[in-house]
Amino acid sequence: MPGSDIGTAASGVWDRGLIRIGGFAPVSFADWPGEISAVIFCQGCPWDCGYCHNPDLIPARAPSRYGWDQILGFLRQRRGLLDGVVFSGGEPLLQKHLPAAMAAVKELGFRLGLHTGGAYPARFGRVLPLLDWVGFDIKAAPQDYPDLTHSRRSGDDAMESFRLLRRSGVPFETRTTLDPYFFTPPRLFRLEQTIRALGLNDHRMQDYRETGTRPRAG
Ligand code: SF4
Repeated sequence: MPGSDIGTAASGVWDRGLIRIGGFAPVSFADWPGEISAVIFCQGCPWDCGYCHNPDLIPARAPSRYGWDQILGFLRQRRGLLDGVVFSGGEPLLQKHLPAAMAAVKELGFRLGLHTGGAYPARFGRVLPLLDWVGFDIKAAPQDYPDLTHSRRSGDDAMESFRLLRRSGVPFETRTTLDPYFFTPPRLFRLEQTIRALGLNDHRMQDYRETGTRPRAG
């Protein structure tokens, strides 16, 4: 579970109902290429990928581990020391109050990054004007998404979100986790075709990490 030493919210506290936070990294050099950032791990994800290495972040109704005021207070003290703040997850777009939370962070003078799989295209479209960078997961070929995420519409939603991202002009990085349990040769072939069709020359293939994942059937 991502965490820090800034203290945690009392169990079950919904700090002013703003945003539910499952973890916080006060400094990261790896979550936004070229930027020194803090990372807010939003609680909850509508998908259920077998390779998820943060499954504790999947339940949407788990209590917030941090108060929003704690996070803002910490960030206030880091102005000038951090370049930006990344909203990660879980799936940050699940949070109804994400635009308000992002606006509050931006008001402190930080650049804004988002990690997303694109599960909510309409919400994504609303936050895109606030963003300086997006790390976008292309999980598989569109037709293979439901087998990976266990969500019927996930392939369509991800592709619609990616179209919005492209149209927005916001800088982005795309990546795929090469889950050896999922990627049979035909699925890998379809993924490569998808990446080629989308013209993603700098697409990043990430190695699968067993750490933190739930037990898998061989
Ligand atoms: S989309 Fe990300 S957070 Fe959600 S289940 Fe898949 S790997 Fe985990």
